[in-house]
Amino acid sequence: MRFKDKVILITGGTRGIGRAITEAFLREEGLPVVLYNSAENEAKKLREKGVFTIKCDVGNRDEVKKAKEVVEKEFGRVNVIVNNAGIMVLMPFEEFDEEKYNKMIKINLNGAIYTTYEFLPLLKVSKNGTIVNIASNAGIGTAAEGTTFYAITKAGIIILTRRLAFELGKYGIRVNAIAPGWIETDMTLSGKSQEEAEKLRELFRNKTVLKTTGKPEDIANIVLFLASDEARYITGQVIVADGGRID
Ligand code: NAD
Repeated sequence: MRFKDKVILITGGTRGIGRAITEAFLREEGLPVVLYNSAENEAKKLREKGVFTIKCDVGNRDEVKKAKEVVEKEFGRVNVIVNNAGIMVLMPFEEFDEEKYNKMIKINLNGAIYTTYEFLPLLKVSKNGTIVNIASNAGIGTAAEGTTFYAITKAGIIILTRRLAFELGKYGIRVNAIAPGWIETDMTLSGKSQEEAEKLRELFRNKTVLKTTGKPEDIANIVLFLASDEARYITGQVIVADGGRID
């Protein structure tokens, strides 16, 4: 039980990859604190399992500040921050829509900055605090149709990871990122018919050397490792988990 009694802040922890991360820390007897902006039913189910949830749009700094105050009062510390919340709006460069672009920047990039900045004092309270950021293989240049602007936000997360590792090392805080490939979640599959979903799975399976798509648990397992003392000598790194992309 590597995370017994440790307070784990997970943004967007009610669904998809974030949900798998929340469940993984629960299994390790950690104390997940989930920031969520919608998904009331999912949040309720998590509360029934003992997860502490706070409604908070991570793209809104005031809401993040308030969430920090709640966590401070309730727990007084945070041991791990997982910046997972994100959205993907597909948009070819030639169809640039500033509103959609700003929304992605606000949630994917500013959300991670606000969360890290506001919760940092609580992370410093705990010994060996760690941050795990969920980036994307798009952020290291892997191409897919319509993902240029999304990729920009994820490249931002990667450089944020490297620079925070540099700046926060003096407090013993490690900062790493994971760059997932195509993972089966609402982000990639919602609104698709069964047939469309299967076509997408096949497309992305064939883009990997392992000939398989990713599951949220594949990413959650890496989060557990990076957040644990087993990774005590790793900081400023990006682990790509994409089944071995071949294009
Ligand atoms: P998802 O859409 O299933 O879940 C995203 C989560 O973020 C949801 O819980 C949602 O409520 C939350 N969220 C969105 N906006 C928010 C806001 N303003 N405030 C608080 N929470 C907010 O998607 P997912 O696939 O689980 O994605 C999780 C992370 O992994 C994202 O950062 C995504 O960019 C990244 N990622 C996903 C894939 C993939 O193929 N699914 C690949 C690479 C990276």
